[in-house]
Amino acid sequence: MTVLRIYQGDITTLKVDAIVNAANESLLGGGGVDGAIHRAAGEGLLKECKTLGGCKTGEAKITGAYHLPARHIIHTVGPIWQQHSPAEADQLLLNCYMNSLNICFNYGLEVIAFAAISTGVYGFPPDRATQIVVPFIRKYCTAHPGIQEIIFCCFDNETTALYEKALSPT
Ligand code: ADP
Repeated sequence: MTVLRIYQGDITTLKVDAIVNAANESLLGGGGVDGAIHRAAGEGLLKECKTLGGCKTGEAKITGAYHLPARHIIHTVGPIWQQHSPAEADQLLLNCYMNSLNICFNYGLEVIAFAAISTGVYGFPPDRATQIVVPFIRKYCTAHPGIQEIIFCCFDNETTALYEKALSPT
């Protein structure tokens, strides 16, 4: 059974099989967690990202992790909340998690840390995101044995509290 847990802090410090970055469609770096990952990984990451031809919203692409302790980076592009209907944004956000997990499953990656995709600058309400993401991941992992651990990397207290609530037994 997959263990779901919370880590509060900087995703760039995690020594896991893959960290999942909240990227933008250019894949050429940006602010927030994306900026932190590019800064910590170094120039090699940007060079590899330039070869990928961007990434559509809801999709995901894998790269090396360069100077990071993680083995890989999965870059996924979350929806910008205001550009979609709520139902459409929900679906696009779940596509991000699904496509990232599909890559992990196909590569046999076992320990994966997710940033809270779209819930920063992209404006997706964090409580709404947490409420749909946790059950989705539980269901996915049940159907795809082999993924050992999912870490929800929460940067702020609010996000941590939301994940604690969503992960606590009801
Ligand atoms: P998006 O543009 O998809 O909303 P952001 O980077 O703005 O992405 O925010 C996504 C989440 O990542 C937010 O909860 C933000 O607080 C968090 N975050 C920012 N920096 C880091 C970091 N270094 N490690 C982990 N999470 C981070």
